[in-house]
Amino acid sequence: MNILPLQKGILYGPINSRRLGKSLGINLMPTKYKLCSFNCVYCHYGLTDELTMNLENYIKDLPEYNDVMKAIEGAVKSPLEFDYITFSGNGEPTLYPNFSSLVDEVIKIRDKYRPNVKVALLSNSSGLIYAEVRESIRNIDLPVFKLDAGRADKFRAINNPIRDVNFEGIVDLLSNLSNICIQTVLIDGNLFNTSKEDIDSYFEKLKKIQPKEVHIYSTDRPVPNTEIKRVKPDRLKEIAREGEKETGVRIKAFYL
Ligand code: SF4
Repeated sequence: MNILPLQKGILYGPINSRRLGKSLGINLMPTKYKLCSFNCVYCHYGLTDELTMNLENYIKDLPEYNDVMKAIEGAVKSPLEFDYITFSGNGEPTLYPNFSSLVDEVIKIRDKYRPNVKVALLSNSSGLIYAEVRESIRNIDLPVFKLDAGRADKFRAINNPIRDVNFEGIVDLLSNLSNICIQTVLIDGNLFNTSKEDIDSYFEKLKKIQPKEVHIYSTDRPVPNTEIKRVKPDRLKEIAREGEKETGVRIKAFYL
């Protein structure tokens, strides 16, 4: 098995997602390289080619706003079946220059043509520094944000963010949002976030953020760093159980 190829266009799927059912993906990033503010050691698209928060120099490679809207409108008017429209793709979707107005328009056409379909976002949380991104989150049915560690040093080791991304700042921004989900990838091996210390500090952050729900899972696909090991389902279930007791937050473990 290989690392997953990058998405080749604006729309992909619908894919069968463990968490979302049939999910129609929206890729707002370039199709020839991965552009992200993180370079997670477990990313199933491989290493980040362009590590940045600022997309100014990449505009020519991003899909045009009107083309994104046309593609989504075409899909919602078509007989294609899906349960979710999900902003995700070849990097971090909230960095797209017109992300918030795009969300508003997608919600409008969803309301008009597919009122039963939900809109989801899979984000690494870094775009939350922008007020308009935080504002747009309120209208998304399922905003899911990444939090893989309870401490800045582990966050840096696992997510390899661009230097200006501040861990405690992200936790504060997440704490000020309501109705969000947190998703966490747990890993073992040479680099891990599953020691007692790791899990205790992670639970502390969940207590502070108080998300609506937490999804934990491990690396079920090939990852760029071959020294990373998958966390076994029993351990995931145990962490979910302990975490619910400790934080009062609903935690679901996903595994194959
Ligand atoms: S944030 Fe997502 S797309 Fe970016 S490197 Fe991490 S897993 Fe990959």
